[in-house]
Amino acid sequence: MGIPANLQGRVAVYEAPGRPFEIRLFPVRPPRCNEVLVKVRMSTICRSDIHSYLGHRPNPCPGLLGHEIIGTIVELGEDIRADMRGEPLALGDRITWSEYFVPPGGSYIGDVLDLPQKSPGVDKYGHMAVTVEPHHHGGFGDYCYVLPQSWILRLPADLSDEEATPVNCGVATMVCVTERAEIGIGDTVVVQGLGLLGLYGAALAKGRGARLVIGLDPVPARRDLARRFGVDQVMNPSLADPSDLVRSVRALCGPDGADAVIEVCGDAAVVPSGLQMLRTGGRYVLGGVVNPDAFVRLDANLILRKLVTLRGVHNYHPRHLVQALDFVHANRTRFPFGELVDGKYALADVGTAMRDAAERRVLRAAIVP
Ligand SMILES: [Zn+2]
Repeated sequence: MGIPANLQGRVAVYEAPGRPFEIRLFPVRPPRCNEVLVKVRMSTICRSDIHSYLGHRPNPCPGLLGHEIIGTIVELGEDIRADMRGEPLALGDRITWSEYFVPPGGSYIGDVLDLPQKSPGVDKYGHMAVTVEPHHHGGFGDYCYVLPQSWILRLPADLSDEEATPVNCGVATMVCVTERAEIGIGDTVVVQGLGLLGLYGAALAKGRGARLVIGLDPVPARRDLARRFGVDQVMNPSLADPSDLVRSVRALCGPDGADAVIEVCGDAAVVPSGLQMLRTGGRYVLGGVVNPDAFVRLDANLILRKLVTLRGVHNYHPRHLVQALDFVHANRTRFPFGELVDGKYALADVGTAMRDAAERRVLRAAIVP
């Protein structure tokens, strides 16, 4: 066994934000004892990849993007025997893994506060300069090393690549968002933004027992699709005056407004109207404003007076990765998750894929190397 000597793999690299992608070759070495070498099967373009590529958030260059990845095991480090559930791992298995890995040695934030996703020195796949060894640490390439202190899950055989690839970012993040929104049986939930996160969020809200999910998005095709992901009522927030929109939503969420409102549109300007949609004691969770300088003017007195709980979610705990995979697997006939990956591109066409994704011509563009 083992990989051939002098093996090389392709990587799609950009020199600086907005510059064209170039395919470059980097050596592929055997994995170290606590690494796994995978052949990338599919990598989907997340909104944060687009922010990085356009220079809206800092990312080291020459850059290698892609963190929503699944792959087939080519070689296992000798210390890796099983996934995070204890399921044995073997060559040829399809796996997903956490989008981030924590530095060894533990930390106060990671271990005492139980927020490993915010451990000092945490790093993410598709977030490092390609010059950093072992070079293959993002989705837009032939190979990827699953690095030490990542959480790995073997994928069920009946789950398609399209269903499985967004699990380790989009779905796991929304498991965390809907958990923090404390959505329970009979709740009314408003989802601001019906992109990929919003659609998973609506499905998860229904899975958690919500009686009514209201989806807000200016794009008609997204509002139509949303009905298939558990959204009961859709509204176009760009047509209505904000106060009319608040009134319409509140009228559906009797007697006092929505139990929970989730922001996944990436636009901080929606926060004030979202807060007004809430009932007394309601929960507001921010999940989409991942870029810095998302300033907004709001009446803090409203938060105080209505006893609102305001929370932010960025990334997720490892338990959310397990729940994300199990939710998608268990509900794959109830919600058409596979249809969300609606564009497939070769590695050489990553620039086109990025443009289509940025211009929202596709919901989730997939790179299939
Ligand atoms: Zn992501």
